[in-house]
Amino acid sequence: MPDPLILTYAFATALTIGLITKFWLASRQIRHVARHRDAVPAAFAATMTLAAHQKAADYTVAKVRFGLAEMAWSAAVVLAWTLLGGLDLLNKVLLDVLGGGMARQLALLAAFAAIGGLLELPFTLWQTFRLEQRFGFNKMTWRLWLADAAKGVVVGVLVGLPIAALILWIMGTAGSMWWLWAWGTWMAFNLLLMLIYPAFIAPLFNKFAPLDDAGLKARVTALMQRCGFAAKGLFVMDGSRRSAHANAYFTGFGASKRVVFYDTLLRQLSAGEVEAVLAHELGHFKHRHIVKRMAMLFAASFAGFALLGWLSGRSWFYAGLGVQPVLGAPNDAVALLLFMIAVPVFGFFIAPLSARLSRRDEFEADAYAIAQTNGTDLSTALLKLYQDNASTLTPDPVFVKFYYSHPPASERLARMNATTAVAA
Ligand SMILES: [Zn+2]
Repeated sequence: MPDPLILTYAFATALTIGLITKFWLASRQIRHVARHRDAVPAAFAATMTLAAHQKAADYTVAKVRFGLAEMAWSAAVVLAWTLLGGLDLLNKVLLDVLGGGMARQLALLAAFAAIGGLLELPFTLWQTFRLEQRFGFNKMTWRLWLADAAKGVVVGVLVGLPIAALILWIMGTAGSMWWLWAWGTWMAFNLLLMLIYPAFIAPLFNKFAPLDDAGLKARVTALMQRCGFAAKGLFVMDGSRRSAHANAYFTGFGASKRVVFYDTLLRQLSAGEVEAVLAHELGHFKHRHIVKRMAMLFAASFAGFALLGWLSGRSWFYAGLGVQPVLGAPNDAVALLLFMIAVPVFGFFIAPLSARLSRRDEFEADAYAIAQTNGTDLSTALLKLYQDNASTLTPDPVFVKFYYSHPPASERLARMNATTAVAA
């Protein structure tokens, strides 16, 4: 049997290197943005004011600073749960109170989620009511925040507890191949969630009204027909109740897909620009980005469950991460939690890879949008969105490589101009 200390050291090392890397990246981003704060980049001189550019710089720096505090705190929390014995203690207390059965295991998952949520709470509140507020993005009242939180807990319990109980039951009864059954169940659950989310969960938090702007509706419908795209409806969501940030997205799948525009997006963009943004989203569908992403998720979770199936039977997995497995009672809930805690610590190092794939997809979607609409609408829409969201135009290139799921504005616009020039 391998020494549990090997895992302990590997875990502590990954956590430390991850933290150092994150700090290094953040300090690069802060310095780079601050250094370019005094002048609008030449390519944007005609389209952006110095005041808007500086607001974006200040917002970016404030967000990165906030992120630093948050990541230091989460690393401390991870350490407290694992090597410092938090999860072990919680497990023992619940064992005394509830015994070894399913009730204790479910209570452990629920208590972990509740305590984790409370530990994150100061940061969530600070982000909404201080950071976003300071830059004029927050539209949320305390009342709405509390209502959201209450609904979130109810939905979490109603959706989370049954699936947790089902997975634990499979782990306890399906024998050594339990992980395969659990994986299948988990995938089916995710598909079900995607199916019921737009119709049953999203409306608990937002109002969805059919798009009633006849001119825009005609343009959007024509675009979708041109692209051979079937959707069940066009909706406008009251995103402005919570935030001034703008967005558009698709939900559901198959013929039950719907297109959702934030009201903030419709206020900020002209009809042609909305069409261009939608064409970009359609580009993601046409290039099968969403299907590919799903397939990758299926494959990754298959590997994850197989790994967990193997790890959960080794006592060094528990001991190495600071938990004494209970003798004579299932340790499945502990195994699930340790796995959920440890995977992001080791997985942080593949973040640049997935960010890179995502940026490549964005270029493809942009190219599709330009082919389907007129190229200038997409570039003016993007500029407006970058400006209204106070996204910096001068990010640090290394920070971009690591974290950016979307290429920076300068790269996207340069690529678009090249495409339109070739087309014209
Ligand atoms: Zn995109």
